[in-house]
Parts: sequence; C-alpha cells; structure tokens
Amino acid sequence: MNGGFDADVIVCGAGMTGVTLGLALASAGLRPLLIDRAGFEAQLAPTFDGRASAIAFSNIRQWRALGLGEALLAHAQPIQQILVTDGRTPGAAAGPAYGAFLRFEAAEIDDRDGAEPLGYMLENRRIRAALVEAVQAAGVTVLAPVRVEQVTLGARAAQVALSDGRTLSAPLVVGAEGKVSVVRRAAGIEAAGWGYGQSGVVATIALERDHGGVAHEYFLPSGPFAILPLTGQRASLVWTETARRGEALAGAGDEAFQAYLLRRFGGFLGRAEPTGPRFVYPLSLHVAADLVAPRAALAGDAAHVIHPIAGQGLNLGLKDAAALAEVVVDAARLGEDIGAPSVLERYARWRRLDNVALALATDGFNRLFSTDNALVRAARDAGMALVNRLGPARRFFMREAGGAVGDLPRLLRGEAL
Ligand SMILES: Cc1cc2nc3c(=O)[nH]c(=O)nc-3n(C[C@H](O)[C@H](O)[C@H](O)COP(=O)(O)OP(=O)(O)OC[C@H]3O[C@@H](n4cnc5c(N)ncnc54)[C@H](O)[C@@H]3O)c2cc1C
Repeated sequence: MNGGFDADVIVCGAGMTGVTLGLALASAGLRPLLIDRAGFEAQLAPTFDGRASAIAFSNIRQWRALGLGEALLAHAQPIQQILVTDGRTPGAAAGPAYGAFLRFEAAEIDDRDGAEPLGYMLENRRIRAALVEAVQAAGVTVLAPVRVEQVTLGARAAQVALSDGRTLSAPLVVGAEGKVSVVRRAAGIEAAGWGYGQSGVVATIALERDHGGVAHEYFLPSGPFAILPLTGQRASLVWTETARRGEALAGAGDEAFQAYLLRRFGGFLGRAEPTGPRFVYPLSLHVAADLVAPRAALAGDAAHVIHPIAGQGLNLGLKDAAALAEVVVDAARLGEDIGAPSVLERYARWRRLDNVALALATDGFNRLFSTDNALVRAARDAGMALVNRLGPARRFFMREAGGAVGDLPRLLRGEAL
C-alpha cells in the first residue's frame, strides 16, 4: 500500500452511506477500507432496520452506475404520484371537495431523459443486501464487527484505533458512522441540533387494494404520517407521534394497532394487515458545523441527521458519497494529496449549502405542520393551494426532491467516475 498506509481512504461506518462511498472509490481504482461495529450478518437480520426509503432518481442512477441496478430494481416500487394532504381526512387529495392538498406527478417532469418516476421506494434490508453483495464482489476490505475507538488526525496521516487493539493509517479518514461520530469528535467539529420529542413508528402493511404507486403524506397535529407504496401490494407506514405515544403504538398487539389505524384512516386503505415487527426511531436534528478538517471528511448522518418528513436523509448521504468520491478520485488522478485541506474544501463547498438548506427546510416544515393552530393552518393551506396551482413551482419541488438540481456529481448523472 502507498507510503506504508493500510488504505487510501479509511471509511468509519459501513452503513448505506459508507458502503456506497466505498464502492464509488473502488470503482475508480482507489483502495478504501470499511470498518463497522456491526457485522453484515447483523445488519441484514430482519430485526435490524424495518424502514423503507424513498430514493431520489439521481441516487438510483448512482447505484446503477456502481453496478447495483439489477439487484435493486427488482425490489423497487416506482413512485408515480405524491399526494400531500393537510389534515385528518384520509384520501382528501383524491377528491376536490376536501381541504388543502398538493399533488406531484411523474408525468409532469418527463422532459428528463426517459420516463423516470419521481423516485423509488426500497426497503432498507434490500438496499443493504445489494450493497453488501456489491462490496464483497468488488473485493473491498471490510473490518466488522469492530469498533472505531479513537481517531488521530496528524500532519501526514490519519490514525484509526480499533477495539481489537489494531491501529490503521491512511491519508484520509471519512466519518460515516451516523449521528455519534468518532471522526467528527476527533476533528473538533461541533454539531448543533435538538430532539423533536417525536418518534417515527415504522410498520409494513399488506394492502387489500392496489396502491397504484401513490405515496400519501398527511399532516396531522402530532406530526406527519406517510403511507409509502412497496412492491407486492404492500406499504410502509411512517407514523410520527409524540415519543410516549410512539412507544405505545410500537408495543401494541397487531389487532390493537390495526384497530387504531382503521379508526384514524377509516376504510380508505381497505383492509390493512400489519406484517412483521414494528420499529420506533426517536427523531432529532443535528447538523455538523463543517464537513471537513485536515485528513478528515464527514458524510451521511455523521454530518446531518434530519427529520424524515421529506424522505431525504439517506438521499443527502448518498449525494455526499457521490461528491466526495469524485473530489478524491479526481485529486488522486492529478497526484494531489487526497487528505489535504485544499482538496477536501472542494467537497465541503459542493455539499455544504444543500445539506444545511434541507436540514432547515425539513425542520421548518415539521414545525409548520405539527400544530393545530387555526391561523397557522389557514396560512399553510393557502400556501399549499397556491403551489398546487403553479405548475413551475410544483416541477421545481419535484426536481429538487429527485436530486436533479444544481451542479451534479458524475455518479448522480449516471456516469462512471
Ligand atoms: C423513520 C425514518 C424514515 C426515514 N425515511 C427515509 C427516506 O424515505 N428517505 C431517505 O433518504 N432517508 C430516510 N431516513 C433517513 C435515513 O434512514 C438515514 O439518513 C440513513 O439511514 C443514514 O445512513 P448512514 O449510513 O449515513 O448512517 P447510519 O445508518 O447511522 O450508519 C452508520 C454505521 O456506522 C456504524 N458505526 C457507528 N459508530 C461506529 C463506531 N464507533 N465504530 C464502527 N462503526 C460504527 C453503525 O453500526 C452503522 O452501520 C429515514 C429516517 C427515519 C428515522
């Protein structure tokens, strides 16, 4: 290995962001090394992660460019329409007689190459399985289960001390270890944020009726409630509740949960059978003050944890991975030191604004919609009605959510590095 290093880049955290970054670096001939405290076997267990993610089409292009297309698309449910409804009336957006709603349709932005849907719903267990298979096929070294205990950022190298006593070094270390990042702490980068006092209860249900590729988002006073289409006539529910009620919902028996669901949503869903376990995720906002320090960079939830209201957290992490890989690969090709501040600053400049803007937007939306105040409701309903009438505004939101806005890294355009 170059200069006695153990790798070109040590990636701490082999979650969905870390593995995507590792694959991207390896695709261009660099030698990444991934470390995770959870072995892949644990990550693939049905009880590890019950979520499904709305993935923007630009990130699907990235995964396709990295060779994951077939493994993923077999399980991906295209999102053809998103209906956002303000209030308690399920199915409101289906009829003009109801309150405020927004409708986003894939057909409206079909000037993109080919007829891509608005995005895809993919279960995280499927994403993880495809990523693990790809990273193993690419021969990327993965050390797991082993914990990153300490990181030291020196003038010429980053040193990573592991719980098994080993110390590894590389010119660059990436923190992709999620909210509690050892790399971020070692780099002295502060993170600002707060808890929402809300939990996201996640459950998968089997539907009686065809969902038609429609994703529903209802804004209820306790927080947003999403019904997201999955393959096989199933849906993933993300039910935002106060932390206390979230625990109660997750702990309720299947029948009680189903009865509560029916009470809330009437017959709109038809019969909705819960399948598999329920999961509870405490929700918070955390944004790192910077994305880089000499010999260190942050990506994914290590840099930003945002409210799942717009289904954008992982999408941001995958965009980080695409941009960081491109900056590092281009620098290596030019013979630059890939851990030097001048190189890493290019990554920070590229991603800083997008990350902070989205964190603030999701925080604002959640505050705006998680209230029953009559005045606030009237104002937001007027805003939604306006956006719904304005084709260009709607198309802007769809392109933004699809990750197709601005200066895109090559992988997000579907090109190889
Ligand atoms: C309810 C809910 C719904 C969501 N829905 C969506 C959605 O629809 N679309 C979307 O884009 N996003 C969504 N998100 C956000 C998304 O799930 C996260 O942003 C994403 O999982 C973050 O991935 P990551 O790889 O950056 O971090 P993580 O998943 O946190 O991975 C970090 C990895 O690092 C490892 N690790 C941690 N510390 C150490 C250590 N010291 N040593 C070694 N390894 C370590 C962990 O084991 C883990 O594997 C949702 C989130 C929630 C809560």
